[in-house]
Amino acid sequence: MPASQPNAIKSRSSAADGYDVVVVGAGFAGMYLLHRLRGLGLSVRVYEQGNGVGGTWYWNRYPGARCDVESMQYSYSFSDELQQEWDWSERYAPQPEILRYANHVADRFNLRSDIQFDTRVDRAVFDEGSNTWSVTTSDGKTVTAQFVVLATGCLSNARMPDFKGLADFKGNVYHTGHWPHEPVDFTGKRVAVIGTGSSAIQSIPLIAEQASQLFVFQRTANFSVPARNARLTAEERQAFRDNYPEIRRKAREEMRNGIFQELPEKGALDESEEQRRARYGARWAKGGLTFTATYNNIAIDKAANDTAADFVREKIAEIVKDPAVARLLQPDNHPIGSKRICVDTDYYATYNRPNVKLIDVKANPIEQILPHGLRAGGEDYEFDDLVLATGFDAMTGSVAKIDIEGRAGETLNHKWSAGPRTYLGLMSEGFPNLFIITGPGSPSVLSNMIVSIEQHVDWITDCIGYMRDRDFDCMEATKAAEDKWVAHVNEVAYTTLMPQANSWYMGANIPGKPRIFMPYIGGVGVYRQICNDVAAKDYEGFAMTAAPRQRVAVSS
Ligand code: FAD
Ligand code: NAP
Repeated sequence: MPASQPNAIKSRSSAADGYDVVVVGAGFAGMYLLHRLRGLGLSVRVYEQGNGVGGTWYWNRYPGARCDVESMQYSYSFSDELQQEWDWSERYAPQPEILRYANHVADRFNLRSDIQFDTRVDRAVFDEGSNTWSVTTSDGKTVTAQFVVLATGCLSNARMPDFKGLADFKGNVYHTGHWPHEPVDFTGKRVAVIGTGSSAIQSIPLIAEQASQLFVFQRTANFSVPARNARLTAEERQAFRDNYPEIRRKAREEMRNGIFQELPEKGALDESEEQRRARYGARWAKGGLTFTATYNNIAIDKAANDTAADFVREKIAEIVKDPAVARLLQPDNHPIGSKRICVDTDYYATYNRPNVKLIDVKANPIEQILPHGLRAGGEDYEFDDLVLATGFDAMTGSVAKIDIEGRAGETLNHKWSAGPRTYLGLMSEGFPNLFIITGPGSPSVLSNMIVSIEQHVDWITDCIGYMRDRDFDCMEATKAAEDKWVAHVNEVAYTTLMPQANSWYMGANIPGKPRIFMPYIGGVGVYRQICNDVAAKDYEGFAMTAAPRQRVAVSS
């Protein structure tokens, strides 16, 4: 449930002279934030560069796109009416249905009137005299706001690789994260997919069914487990609905990743080979992301991790008929789970189709895109259409695109040039009254993100309510608190196997990006408690100011 709602607070601003809060982005984070801030009586403007709500689910319309956290859990919990009334059709809802849900939420809570679509936020500058932000948008206008909240998404900045010759390609080029709104038909076409992350792994089986020939260019093999997707029965839905309060509570407080699931009591090496195989087999048969939670030490103990990785490698060898192709598909350079594990429907079996060819571009790197294909390892491949499933400049990419200037003209991009620095993933010192939702330094992408989004939105709303109640008009993370938190986030990351992979969690997919493990791996329950404690101690580690330049409460 949302945290307690402070008494309605009088808005200090009106649209004429600015807003209390500007929110950037109308995905699940921006939408819920708008709803909560309105509850405080504040004036809010949401800017969204797309022309609809839904964020991720508005942009990622590629074939096979669907959630990989089960829909009964990958959904808002803030309104019991909403969770009781919405009928998810499948265990993992497809993208069009999740987008319909986002639109339903926008209508049900009457959100659209405060969202300005087709408008990008380009710049935000903090004025130390008035403790307000000036926000400049792509329509050339500038508005002021006391607070700015970046609900810009962690996986919202699609990464276009800089392949030589890409601009000269004569066929259609699609990025999974920027898929057209019109249906794309590959029937009878020769298609190339570059990338084998979650987006590729979802789309490849469906593209293979349409295309006359599919080339998959793989740089790093990924671990994928079967989704076992199926239609949800009325009884299954009802079982969740009847138990939602407890399921949601456990997901928030007791699960590291915000997904209610059976928790392992044992480590992988505590059981015999035979017992392990039975357990992995059962999880494999059940399907889904929780495969890596079969044992409690898979993320931290390499020997334990190897048992899970070996099991998946064996499954790949069982499914894929050509042993050379199976070998190429078997991940061998990172622990399982250290890159985001994928969830698929018939991914590995797709390589048994005669029209699908896997090309190893680690051994034979892509040299250039040609007008009718590409060259890799000295060999030319001809195709009609190119699908870039090359991922995102994750966690910081969309923030970095906004020119953000804080105290004394310091820019956020300059401050974060050696890697993002935040206190609790919520604020960065030197940038007062600027919040980030699911920012680096919070559990964010390591969790069921709706759980993390709701937690941040509730915390930020309560915090703004607290400030308004006490007439504080400026809030900022202290340097000491931020330094301590950054060190803690790093320390915890290095107690796990996660930093061992060249993952987007580490920024490793973007040439030149600093290698920092960006999310906080302490778990959503622990993190929530830390945030609640900070708030209970009058926002310890944040400095609050009652009037311009008059600091009245400083704690660290
Ligand atoms: P987003 O949904 O990314 O929304 C951010 C919005 O901000 C976007 O609409 C963007 O256009 C807008 N924006 C950004 N910058 C600007 C700007 N400067 N000006 C104006 N607007 C701007 N998570 C899970 O937990 N479970 C899943 O199963 C899952 N599946 C996923 C599948 C895919 C294909 C992808 C890409 C991600 C998936 N995720 C999943 C992560 C997903 O991003 C989150 O679950 C969630 O949707 C994020 O919501 P958000 O509102 O924080 O960000
Ligand atoms: P991704 O996991 O980053 O995968 C990108 C792929 O492109 C990788 O295989 C990468 O190879 C490859 N690649 C990038 N640049 C390349 C280049 N220059 N040459 C060759 N290959 C290149 O991106 P994603 O698949 O879009 O997924 C991102 C995240 O979004 C996921 O991890 C997940 O959190 C979320 N998501 C979830 C779902 C879901 O199932 N619900 C679906 C899609 C996305 P390397 O590994 O070698 O870098």
